[in-house]
Amino acid sequence: MFKKILIANRGEIALRIIRACHDMGVHTVAVHSTADADSMHVRLADESVCIGGAPSKDSYLNVPSIITAAIVTNSDAIHPGVGFLSENPEFAEIVHEHRLAFIGPSPKHIADMGDKTKAKKIAVKLGIPVVPGSDDVVSDLSDAQNIAGKIGYPVLIKAANGGGGRGMKIVQNESELAESIRIAKNEAETSFGNNEVYIEKYLSNPKHIEIQVMADNFGNIIHLGERDCSLQRRHQKIFEESPSPIVTPSQREELGGLVVRSVKRLGYQGVGTVEFLYSDGRFYFIEMNTRLQVEHPITEQITGIDIVQEQIKIAAGEHLSFSQKNVTFTGHSIECRINAEDPDTFSPSPGLINSYHAPGGPGVRIDSHLYSGYKIPPYYDNLAAKLIVHESNRTRCLARLERALNEYVISGIKTLIPLHLRIIKNPDVISGKYDVATLEKIINAPGRA
Ligand code: ADP
Repeated sequence: MFKKILIANRGEIALRIIRACHDMGVHTVAVHSTADADSMHVRLADESVCIGGAPSKDSYLNVPSIITAAIVTNSDAIHPGVGFLSENPEFAEIVHEHRLAFIGPSPKHIADMGDKTKAKKIAVKLGIPVVPGSDDVVSDLSDAQNIAGKIGYPVLIKAANGGGGRGMKIVQNESELAESIRIAKNEAETSFGNNEVYIEKYLSNPKHIEIQVMADNFGNIIHLGERDCSLQRRHQKIFEESPSPIVTPSQREELGGLVVRSVKRLGYQGVGTVEFLYSDGRFYFIEMNTRLQVEHPITEQITGIDIVQEQIKIAAGEHLSFSQKNVTFTGHSIECRINAEDPDTFSPSPGLINSYHAPGGPGVRIDSHLYSGYKIPPYYDNLAAKLIVHESNRTRCLARLERALNEYVISGIKTLIPLHLRIIKNPDVISGKYDVATLEKIINAPGRA
């Protein structure tokens, strides 16, 4: 096992990784920007290094600074967390070149899956159904017209290197196509430094279902069931649950088995998530994330498996602690992403937390870096806390979630807690029959400010 791990991240996910390390007796090094000197991840780590100024490009994306911090602290491994450098194959390569372990899959697998058209081609080869669309990035307008004509409108234009739900454009008919491609290409260039786009059939109101998988270096590969992440705003997940209220045990076994066989044939090692859209009774691959997911805790709650510890063990060349037959699913778990945002306008709400009280009691878990007196800086993403609840069944889980949301006090800033209280009162959410369009309907319901 590693002796010391540097965590190249911040916020709640840095804390989550520090906790996994300390549970395993591994020392930790936090890195931070000048804006994060008072951050909880700096306080909880054994050591810390300031790696640059407040903008991410000067600190959390500053590869030379991060590598230097790992070397001067004598770390053996780097955990990239989520976002920032976690899906950057060049970074993983540089980490290896400096004789450090990268806690994640091989640079090749990161690169292959990061290129979404390549990932879809690989999925097709592996026999995984994909959303109908272009086989490659679109070359010009007539290519786009041909593809869209073949699959039928509406279509979705997506950035080949996209992520975080950004840069997608829905096109209702051919007259909108040229302008939408131009806008999508511009957005892709600005957000991802690559203007390539591809086209997919726009599925009407699908569900987003994803399978968590992990694979060690000895051919042991297991899946940990699915997460339903359909409650999204602008394609970004807000509320996730496991198991999905619509996935049957036989579908779980079938889809999980397909993912495990595919990951084996890929030769993939590490943890990963294979994402599908579910529409008209069928699952269609959309992408694979080659890193830890923000919503991993709900899977941990129902399986009792610490995904971060397993991820670290895999990178250290150890065996997975579980085989598929040891994996059991107990009860139901839900995660609410509590963003520091206005719950009506969704504008960011950074600033000073005057007082803070986290809910507790049975089945309640908080993954958050907030504390009373902490000032949320305006430079990074808005995720302030994840409230995760676990109960014996879904109905009781929703009741426990309401109780925990009502206990939660975060004052001084605005948060999405009031939105989550509305979400859990929605009849489609209560029945489990919701899809990726449901949250926008809840947000825009008449009578709302
Ligand atoms: P990103 O990597 O940016 O998160 P994804 O491909 O994972 O993008 O898609 C994010 C979300 O966008 C999905 O969960 C779904 O809500 C929506 N989406 C993506 N592709 C389609 C599609 N072909 N049809 C309808 N909705 C889609």
